[in-house]
Amino acid sequence: MSTYIGRFAPSPTGPLHVGSLLTAVASWCDARAAHGQWLLRIEDIDTTRCHAEAAEHIIRTLEHYGLWWDDQIVYQSQRHHYYQDALAVLQQQGDIFWCVCSRRELAETHSPIYTGHCRNHPHYRANAAARVLIPPNTSVTFHDAVFGEIRENIAQEVGDFVIYRRDGLFAYQLAVVVDDAEQGITHVVRGADLLDNTARQIYLQQRLLLPSPHYAHIPLVVNHIGEKLSKQTGATALTWDNANVQLWQALTQLGQCPPDTLQFEHCEQILNWAILHWQRDNIPKQFIL
Ligand SMILES: [Zn+2]
Repeated sequence: MSTYIGRFAPSPTGPLHVGSLLTAVASWCDARAAHGQWLLRIEDIDTTRCHAEAAEHIIRTLEHYGLWWDDQIVYQSQRHHYYQDALAVLQQQGDIFWCVCSRRELAETHSPIYTGHCRNHPHYRANAAARVLIPPNTSVTFHDAVFGEIRENIAQEVGDFVIYRRDGLFAYQLAVVVDDAEQGITHVVRGADLLDNTARQIYLQQRLLLPSPHYAHIPLVVNHIGEKLSKQTGATALTWDNANVQLWQALTQLGQCPPDTLQFEHCEQILNWAILHWQRDNIPKQFIL
């Protein structure tokens, strides 16, 4: 029995595109090659940006590509009680403070790092954000399976970060840490746009006495001038009519060298080949379209 539990955790702000397919395929193959489970979590915590139709479209697309998941789909929007409990623990430990600084006030400090203005407010205040109090020189070192050893001084590079927003929404950083632990996730394979979030998440895991999963960040797809491929830079949604070719292309980009003839097979055959031949070490550090 494998102890590997992986996950794919898209935010339903729009349909999946080529970049998100790479991440999905990489995490799926990594889990399946290890005889592990692969869970699907819809990260719809930010209700101002996410919508149910996009979530449904993502789910149908994964099905169409043969990227089947284990267990029930989990929705962050239905898990506020878990995040509330974690926030209460952090509050009890003196790890957070309540910040009422407005966006304008924060901008006027001309500092990308929070200045600590509200640090002397450990007790709940209405219309306030909860920030994690980061002691000076707090740094986190972790190993990433693609990018190697990474060290980040959270105090200098991030500062006291928000885990509960002034608009009453839990922030992504808290939700993802709580969910990964609650779902027993052992391996996180996700896009490199989240690489610089990892130190913050590990810090929260440490404060909440939660285990840290293994991390592997899949390089972002960039265009020829180095822009991240996204809806804004012209990334197109995945189509359903040539899923097999797109899967084959994703495996090729992931450095897995699938044979040419495989692209004309059904998705299931392509993925079966991928499980048998998966080499995580072959994933390149950058993709260029
Ligand atoms: Zn403040």
